Amino acid sequence: MQPDGDRFSDLGLRPELLDALTALGYEEPTPIQSEAIPALLTGQDLVGQAATGTGKTAAFALPVLHRLPDGDRGKKPRALILAPTRELAMQVANAISSYGQKVGARVLAVYGGQPITPQLRALSKGVDVVVGTPGRVVDHLERGSLKLDALETVVLDEADEMLDMGFADELDAILSQVPAQRQTVLFSATLPPKIARMAKKHLNDPVRVQIEREAVAAGEAPKVTQTAHLVNRENKAVALSRLLAVHQPTAAIVFCRTRAEVDSLTEALKSRSVRAEALHGGMTQAERDRVMNRLRGGTADLLVATDVAARGLDVDLLTHVVNYNVPSAPETYVHRIGRVGRAGREGVALTLVEPRERRMVEAIEHLTGTKIPYAPVPTVADLRASRMSATKDALLAALSTDLEDARKVVKQLAKEHDPLDLAAAALSLVHASTDEEEIPVVPPRQPRPERDDARPVRGPRQERKGPATGMAKVYIGAGRAANVAPKDLVGAIAGETHLSGKQIGSIEITERFSLVEVPAHELDTVVKALRASVIKGRKVSVRPDRNA
Ligand code: AMP
Repeated sequence: MQPDGDRFSDLGLRPELLDALTALGYEEPTPIQSEAIPALLTGQDLVGQAATGTGKTAAFALPVLHRLPDGDRGKKPRALILAPTRELAMQVANAISSYGQKVGARVLAVYGGQPITPQLRALSKGVDVVVGTPGRVVDHLERGSLKLDALETVVLDEADEMLDMGFADELDAILSQVPAQRQTVLFSATLPPKIARMAKKHLNDPVRVQIEREAVAAGEAPKVTQTAHLVNRENKAVALSRLLAVHQPTAAIVFCRTRAEVDSLTEALKSRSVRAEALHGGMTQAERDRVMNRLRGGTADLLVATDVAARGLDVDLLTHVVNYNVPSAPETYVHRIGRVGRAGREGVALTLVEPRERRMVEAIEHLTGTKIPYAPVPTVADLRASRMSATKDALLAALSTDLEDARKVVKQLAKEHDPLDLAAAALSLVHASTDEEEIPVVPPRQPRPERDDARPVRGPRQERKGPATGMAKVYIGAGRAANVAPKDLVGAIAGETHLSGKQIGSIEITERFSLVEVPAHELDTVVKALRASVIKGRKVSVRPDRNA
């Protein structure tokens, strides 16, 4: 069922990859995928403006996998993906492995903070795709363990983040070692001038892909109360069931990304006594009709659906739209919430936002010109209060029904107990089954992840001296380039902790970072204090020096 939009099978990808996507439950390409994949398959360079959550990983990974030859591929990697953090590198490597399973793709993630030996072993056995953080990739290049001469594609993922984290030198060093005849792909959530300069320097006449932002016509925006809820992935199903318990929608639709997600969420909700029904593109028309009738007839409260499945669905009774993920394109958000708030009725749109998806919420706000306020996920206390108030309503409604039998029992019990106590006990029985736990609150902004490798890139490998006895070194992510002088470091440490200047040992300031010796038993205190303060007017990353 594909009424509009592209299909993966139209993009020119090989069948093994299409099978993998079907197995993952992807029903249709996201806008960035429809645009980027055909262009990348022709071998052109590409600059894509896309944030996390848009499906950018598959957009650059599928063409790479499509080109992997059958048979013996030798040992040297054909594609190198550079990512700003180890988390992203791992995530991207996992995604590529899952897309590339059927083509036998050998994928390796390399990042700092992890022993290098297993990486060396994997590289020497042979890999097709390396996903790495710039620091560790440079390290492997210097060791000679990573060979780039067979490279066909280089991808800079989250290029703006990489520059913001100070990886410009590493990127230059890496890109100066890749074959001139290669495809270069740059993805970035934002395109500031420094990204444009970088693209100009390293990319050859790139295609530009930016998802069209058609503004919503005035008056077209539906009357919908929108809220976003920040929640970590592992708590999403619980958060959703709690929101549903508090909102009590008459009829709701919950949008998921994939069929697999539809199925697992439906099960999770059912196990929490929510009357949920799955609806996805893999179902027959008869199955779909049955589900729809349950919703219309009131035996189901909500549908869990993919966008494809929900297309052409006509339910005017919908009161709530829930985005279980921030949709991959801002336009999709507008289409989804347009399903409620029709014909002048008020609708409610709830969006669950994982910390990494926040930028996409900003993109939606930009498109619609409306702020989507964040609201806390209901707490256990909220939940109890809302259940209690529902019970109160039900109790009052029950007063006007036939209570003859119940009355007899109460009369009997009231001979020995206070009627007020009896009523309270009855009420508490209704609520006996709340075994809820609090969902951890996600802080509004999480600090930027630290670079995983602080070593300066250029020049010969330098062995750093270890700290003096009883001392330990603190790594501070600012150096000469930020005009840091010894007095700034001593000032910051003495100012923020109880340490005196005399207790501070040797100070080493390089271009991009500094190392300061402090008494080993004060290391944690100093790290904590410096993290909470500023150096030269800005926040910098601070941690115990790993190389000490
Ligand atoms: P990314 O922007 O690459 O981080 O992808 C965001 C999420 O969307 C990941 O969980 C992907 O598995 C998922 N995803 C990517 N492409 C699709 C698609 N065409 N349909 C459904 N889910 C997708």
